[in-house]
Amino acid sequence: TSAVLEAIEQTASLNAFISVTPEAALAEARAADAARARGDAGPLTGIPIAHKDIFCTEGVRTSCGSQMLDNFVPPYDAHVVERLREAGAVMVGKTNMDEFAMGSSNETSWYGAVRNPWDTTTVPGGSSGGSAAAVAARLVPAATGTDTGGSIRQPAALTGTCGLKPTYGRVSRYGMIAFASSLDQAGPMATTAEDMALLLSAMAGFDPRDSTCVDQPVPDYRAALAGQDLKGLRVGLPKEYFEAEGVDSEVSRAVEEAVAVFRDAGAEVREISLPNTSLAVPVYYVIAPAEASSNLSRFDGVRYGHRCADPVDLEDLYKRSRGEGFGEEVKRRIMVGTYALSAGYYDAYYLKAQQVRRMIRDDFTRAFETVDVIAGPTAPSTAFALGAKADDPVQMYLSDIFTIATNLAGLPALSIPAGFGGGRPVGLQLIGNHFDEGRLLGAAHGFQ
Ligand code: GLN
Repeated sequence: TSAVLEAIEQTASLNAFISVTPEAALAEARAADAARARGDAGPLTGIPIAHKDIFCTEGVRTSCGSQMLDNFVPPYDAHVVERLREAGAVMVGKTNMDEFAMGSSNETSWYGAVRNPWDTTTVPGGSSGGSAAAVAARLVPAATGTDTGGSIRQPAALTGTCGLKPTYGRVSRYGMIAFASSLDQAGPMATTAEDMALLLSAMAGFDPRDSTCVDQPVPDYRAALAGQDLKGLRVGLPKEYFEAEGVDSEVSRAVEEAVAVFRDAGAEVREISLPNTSLAVPVYYVIAPAEASSNLSRFDGVRYGHRCADPVDLEDLYKRSRGEGFGEEVKRRIMVGTYALSAGYYDAYYLKAQQVRRMIRDDFTRAFETVDVIAGPTAPSTAFALGAKADDPVQMYLSDIFTIATNLAGLPALSIPAGFGGGRPVGLQLIGNHFDEGRLLGAAHGFQ
């Protein structure tokens, strides 16, 4: 833990952390030592980890990357934080992120952009960019992230690390600041599938405080890795993910080479089709902003968070607190979402988007009748230069063309390093059926 704290200090220019908590971390590390001395240690006892600053931490500022919550110190821990602490992991700090998890480059953070350790002139991806950079720079062996449309997998891909978005409902969202509640899931980020398995076993499980959390037993994901083989694994390659316009050739090349590893190991690789792939981004950008506009209405300057100076009346308090506290991307989402939900437009936008969401889910249901996992690129490009897409929201939104559909369908998916393109990491995405995280991790482990 001391070595980790020192490394974090030496790499402050990456801007991976919003808060570092050395005293608490050293106290937890000493408690872990004591547990080990008593013979009372599990696999995560004493392991230093970082939490994305979207997870509430008792007594530790939880900003969600926003000026709105710069002064917010939660009185309780998120479920995920609680579970990892109970497993003996030591929290060293809170990682940087896009504001309210809205972004794909970590440039919307009020605390400034995060730099990709592979090339500090490029972005680490987002929104869990701080967690990805911290793991990529080997500051911590693992970190938590959240994924609403790709925010764990896309930064994992751009930083050459591993990230898993579990099935919707597998991990409790209690204490995780809400962006789009029907899409948000927490998951692990690490350097190997095995480490993700260890973390997921600790994070997952039923929690009555999240009404969408599913009451299903949690397997020992790490123990399950041993019994799996790539031989005979049925791998589907969606033709739409390889033909898609705007996919860098170096990305497809690295992914095709990774797929060859599966083939050589005896996997049955076949082409499949997910015909509604191109509708995922437009559907997401109706549903996610709609849900966000509702979730973010709680930040009103009254109860907690930023409050403007000297309000003249209640309306002035609301308007100026929100106007000052939220950044541009967050305001854009609130406006789009409020529009899509307003009377007269609800049927045309929100309801229509929900119908197409079902079609996207049905595509996957059909695909999983013939394959065990679906493989393809995680992101269409490697890490791009800081600022390159910052002024073009549509270009930025397209960073998630391969990750968003799984959130809409509630499916688990992970990203692992496939290789390099132009000297920059490329991610391989594996998508599984609902609650099939064990098989996904097994396939990733076999590949690694
Ligand atoms: N990049 C997408 C967005 O900006 C997804 C973010 C996420 O998964 N939290 O909404």
